[in-house]
Amino acid sequence: MWRASVLTLFPEMFPGPLGISLTGKALTSGIWSLDAHDIREHTTDKHRTVDDTPAGGGAGMVLKPDILARAIDAVADANASEIRPKLLMTPRGAPLTQARVSQLSAGPGVTIVCGRFEGIDERVIAARGLEEVSIGDYVLSGGEIAALALLDACVRLLPGVLGAAASAEDESFSHGLLEYPQYTRPQEFEGQAIPEILTSGDHGKVAAWRKAQAEALTRTRRPDLWAAYQARPKPQKG
Ligand code: SAM
Repeated sequence: MWRASVLTLFPEMFPGPLGISLTGKALTSGIWSLDAHDIREHTTDKHRTVDDTPAGGGAGMVLKPDILARAIDAVADANASEIRPKLLMTPRGAPLTQARVSQLSAGPGVTIVCGRFEGIDERVIAARGLEEVSIGDYVLSGGEIAALALLDACVRLLPGVLGAAASAEDESFSHGLLEYPQYTRPQEFEGQAIPEILTSGDHGKVAAWRKAQAEALTRTRRPDLWAAYQARPKPQKG
């Protein structure tokens, strides 16, 4: 079973939307498990303090390293063969990609630390070997929504989560390209017809049209992905 442990000040935010639809069914059927832990449980003072003012001054509060380290240690993996990556959700992290999601979903699971306030004390990152991950170049008020996004992306790739008919194979990013446009009935919608080629029954032509569309979309919308796609190693012939 793929296991997710989340350290947060708001455990009630989990499973949240992950308890619904595909990810929710997979949770109930035991394809994956989720445990959310309250970082505050690891405080020792009467006020249950988790944060303090930033050293050097400035606005906001910082999550204390001792409390966070205790919370991380409490969910540490006992079995050496099942050690999960420990992720810290932070806008400073490496941008999350489908390639990293795919690696994470192929492993034993993840432990995720959710920041709040101005973030966490820098020293815990190295002390506990946290991998810093960002879900985009914008700032959320806490790591929980970022953790939910990462978990959703991982869980849908677990074997048995997407139905037989659905496949992650053709999706955006899976081959380094954005996905081609999709259509369904009715044949005509507000004066726009489905491109004729898609209803021609010629599978070769459909595949070629989709590839050309995916390439054109990627080239115009995501020059960064397009450059990486063009630079990819080409399959060897023979
Ligand atoms: N002061 C931090 C900075 O400027 O980098 C931002 C802190 S933010 C208000 C609070 C928490 O939300 C962060 O510690 C992190 O856990 C989470 N967070 C915010 N934006 C995120 C993003 N783009 N990706 C992942 N986590 C994010």
